[in-house]
Amino acid sequence: MPAEANPFSSLQEQLDLASAYMDDMDVPNGVFERLKHPERVLEANLTVEMDDGRLEVFKAFRSQFNGDRGPYKGGIRYHPNVSRDEVKALSGWMVYKCAVVDIPYGGGKGGIVIDPQEYSTAELERITRSFAKELRPFIGEDRDIPAPDVNTGQREMNWIKNTYETLENTTEPGVITGKALDSGGSAGRVEATGRSTMLTAREAFSYLDREMNGATVAVQGYGNAGSIAAQLLQDELGATIVAVSDSSGAIYNPDGIDADAAKDRKYKTGSVTDYEGATEEITNEELLTLDVDLLVPAALENAIDAEIALDVQADVIAEAANGPITPDADDLLSERDVVVLPDILTNAGGVTVSYFEWVQNRQRFYWTEERVNNELERVITEAFDSLVSAYEDRDLPTFRTAAYVVAIERVASAFEQAGSWP
Ligand code: GLU
Repeated sequence: MPAEANPFSSLQEQLDLASAYMDDMDVPNGVFERLKHPERVLEANLTVEMDDGRLEVFKAFRSQFNGDRGPYKGGIRYHPNVSRDEVKALSGWMVYKCAVVDIPYGGGKGGIVIDPQEYSTAELERITRSFAKELRPFIGEDRDIPAPDVNTGQREMNWIKNTYETLENTTEPGVITGKALDSGGSAGRVEATGRSTMLTAREAFSYLDREMNGATVAVQGYGNAGSIAAQLLQDELGATIVAVSDSSGAIYNPDGIDADAAKDRKYKTGSVTDYEGATEEITNEELLTLDVDLLVPAALENAIDAEIALDVQADVIAEAANGPITPDADDLLSERDVVVLPDILTNAGGVTVSYFEWVQNRQRFYWTEERVNNELERVITEAFDSLVSAYEDRDLPTFRTAAYVVAIERVASAFEQAGSWP
């Protein structure tokens, strides 16, 4: 991987950039250094029997980046491109995400190097349970709490919960979040990442004095985050979704793509390009450079690099994915006055409702969806306001820097209050 495309280098660059604006805040250099590296990384090799009796070995990771504000928290992804550095970066982003929205967690992330489409459900279950067995000594509702991420969902979370509880001979639903409702999940968790994307875009448009009703939107990636963000932007705020994509390609219709119908289509056939109401198929790059009011990258890291950034015509970008813009692209976008709503706020709804799920699990008392959504709206709007205050009061160059300044200050303060030991 070239240095500029390594997500862990991106995270460290983002932190360095923010620290340059924190001279007056009295954060010792040693603390900044601490905040740039994971505390520890577990690497496991899972040996699992396939349906035909063969054994296969899968590499898996869990990075525990920082626990100063609470237990490590973050998802587990299944993807062929999972690497140690990717997991480290994603775990760091979780630290700052939880701090921006001020929920009492540190950050972690895990992954298995696998293309899940190539395996049967029974194989995936054995692979997942094998990973859960490796994770067992490291996780726990007060220690490290995994959750879904790319290519994982309720099914995998239920398997991990069951494996953990069986081995521990207990019931502890708060060991993992993003579970199905009957396994101790929370109302509103599935929609939460898309919902915070919608809420952050709504707050930003109002701050920028822009009209969301009728605004044009392009969405890159039509999985959980992208499809639900599109539906909510369309259904709750009256935006027009003009282009969407997934790994099968991208589709465009200047008069609007029905976000719900496109999601149904993707659910049925696996490809959003099977949606019939599009006027043309376009490339991923064309989608990212469309002249729209709002661009929502909702797939993987590094979707927008410097070359694409030069051609981006959107006015606002809401990062529903983690790390979709490389640092050099970020600089170019800011020079070109494109407003970027950073991932650590925009997609923080997922972990925020995970927090609500964990609170409900511990109290064994479950909330209505209305209560979840109201609490989520409060958390996101308050976080947006604290970010805007930092941006204005400290005259910061971007919302991303503002988010990091707010987050680093909170994590550094927790560390200093605890004191370093031994
Ligand atoms: N994977 C999600 C994220 O990147 C959710 C993590 C969680 O709920 O812990 O924020």
